[in-house]
Amino acid sequence: MNVPFLDLRVQYRSIKEEISGAIGQVMNDCAFAGGPFVARFEEEFASFCACRSAVGVGSGTEALWLSLLALGIGEGDEVITVPNTFIATAEAITFSGARPVFVDIDEKTFNMDPELLERTITSRTRAIIPVHLFGQAADMDPIMEIARAHGLAVIEDACQAHGAQYRGRPAGSIGDAGCFSFYPGKNLGAYGEAGAVVTNRSDLAETIRHLRDHGQAEKYYHGTIGWNARMDGLQAAVLSVKLRYLPDWSEARRNNALIYDDLLNGMPGIITPVRAEYGKHVFHIYAIRVNHRNQIISELLKRGIHCGVHYPVPVHLQKAYSFLGLGEGSFPVAEKCARELISLPMFPELTEDKIRYVCDKIRQVIDALQ
Ligand SMILES: *Cc1c(COP(=O)(O)O)cnc(C)c1O
Repeated sequence: MNVPFLDLRVQYRSIKEEISGAIGQVMNDCAFAGGPFVARFEEEFASFCACRSAVGVGSGTEALWLSLLALGIGEGDEVITVPNTFIATAEAITFSGARPVFVDIDEKTFNMDPELLERTITSRTRAIIPVHLFGQAADMDPIMEIARAHGLAVIEDACQAHGAQYRGRPAGSIGDAGCFSFYPGKNLGAYGEAGAVVTNRSDLAETIRHLRDHGQAEKYYHGTIGWNARMDGLQAAVLSVKLRYLPDWSEARRNNALIYDDLLNGMPGIITPVRAEYGKHVFHIYAIRVNHRNQIISELLKRGIHCGVHYPVPVHLQKAYSFLGLGEGSFPVAEKCARELISLPMFPELTEDKIRYVCDKIRQVIDALQ
């Protein structure tokens, strides 16, 4: 049996007609860069996130970067985030001119440990970027409380958490801004690159709208120096179609996660994902912790099962960030998780018999290793 880590084709086939219709409309109107399809998706996505505004941009990375710029963060500033994230979170901080400062994570949720947060704050700290890793919200109440006490902005990196909830509130709607990626493999994926910032702050929405469009409020009159970071019309039209299915797809992911849990719980040598009591996990990634991770992955691959690792090297140990001078041992929990995590195949259309096959093979492989 072959079990891919992710299969985008099944989903595409299930909505092919609608997608073709939506793309056809954009083609008819030739509304390719920004424009009415983007505006419509922005409204729909803002409402999905229970936020006043959404601003469509070119990627999740741009969503993070422009949010930082809109908050006036730059040279000499520090921004706190976690080391176990996709590098884009740190890159956005670096490209704003600020310096990323890391805080270790909670071993259960793989998210920012609020207990460790306050001690990383200095007189230069301007913002905190919690990452809702794997589709589960970080513990936002204590993070917001600490941020407000120190006058810091909070940008949620919700690039993996479309539709996740924290105490009944949508991920991305809690901080000053929430950043989303619509990279094809994300829970809400475009057919190309796209991203968005959601916010209840009209000042931030307006500034980001200007920044994504060369700093112009009126064509060829540039109030600030911006960039070209517009979302394109074809992506917006695709996203509008897919957003309607997202709640069902999230439920399918959650259901698949339950099947995995059922089959894996109690297997010696495996730690299954912990669902925090405060939220709703949307399982962008279903990650288990094991010993002998790399061996297990290669044995599973021999049996047709494709796994992932998110992420094998924490950001502070990446060559690109060696200038920060943070060695091995700086963030022990994140480093331990980086050694132990395996991401199992996970997508809404994954079938129960494939999940059973995966779990069967995991048991065999682990037994053989003992
Ligand atoms: C995907 C992702 C990003 C970047 O999004 P892009 O659309 O690929 O630029 C940022 N942060 C996290 C946590 C992500 O998973």
